[in-house]
Amino acid sequence: MIRAFFGGTFDPIHNGHLKTSSALMKELGIDRLAFMPSAIPPHRTQPEASAEQRLDMVKLACKDYPGFEAEDWELQQSRPSYTAATLAELSERFPNDTLVFVMGMDSLMSLNRWHKWREIVQYAHIVVMPRSGVPFAPQGGELETFIAQHRVNQPSDLESAKNGKLYIAQTPLIDISATELREQLHKRPASPPIPESVYKYIKENKLYL
Ligand code: ATP
Repeated sequence: MIRAFFGGTFDPIHNGHLKTSSALMKELGIDRLAFMPSAIPPHRTQPEASAEQRLDMVKLACKDYPGFEAEDWELQQSRPSYTAATLAELSERFPNDTLVFVMGMDSLMSLNRWHKWREIVQYAHIVVMPRSGVPFAPQGGELETFIAQHRVNQPSDLESAKNGKLYIAQTPLIDISATELREQLHKRPASPPIPESVYKYIKENKLYL
């Protein structure tokens, strides 16, 4: 079975994450996908919402979409969220499954700045969703070489191995970023691009004011 994990800050989760993931499930032919909020180390810029609130919002959003689930693994760990370490642990937890780590194009373009980034493909496939305004333009030879070594062109190519492949999906471009969204939420707009239940939670908890 393929298990897809979409990692991110999710401060807050928004329709950019949700609608693209829904399309991705169809494209990959999978029936579940887990959103995995990351723990942020104390020395880094902190999210506006707490870890618990980010997870709560992910859980609320998942209720609107069949097959979506929330994964709190990174928030349960007493160490920073390094994707390679997380995937090593998840591969022990799910030894019989193929793991897919999902990210947006902006994340792929800066992947070579992640801790032990090359190890990610030892434990999982990487699937990348395009993002508007973010061209496919790897900076630096090492990232370009890495992508070329691992890239496959069809989602079905992910089935030929348990890890080590990188696929760039054809999911729709949905022009929403959490940074811009937080700016908008400040003004409590009528219908921001997030599920209603998440907006209700934001208002009740006085987030992003
Ligand atoms: P920020 O504005 O702070 O960059 P974000 O909207 O990118 O926030 P994150 O929680 O940081 O949200 O993103 C988690 C993952 O989701 C990242 O890999 C990011 O590339 C991806 N992502 C975010 N928004 C979209 C979108 N609209 N379409 C596709 N992928 C997205």
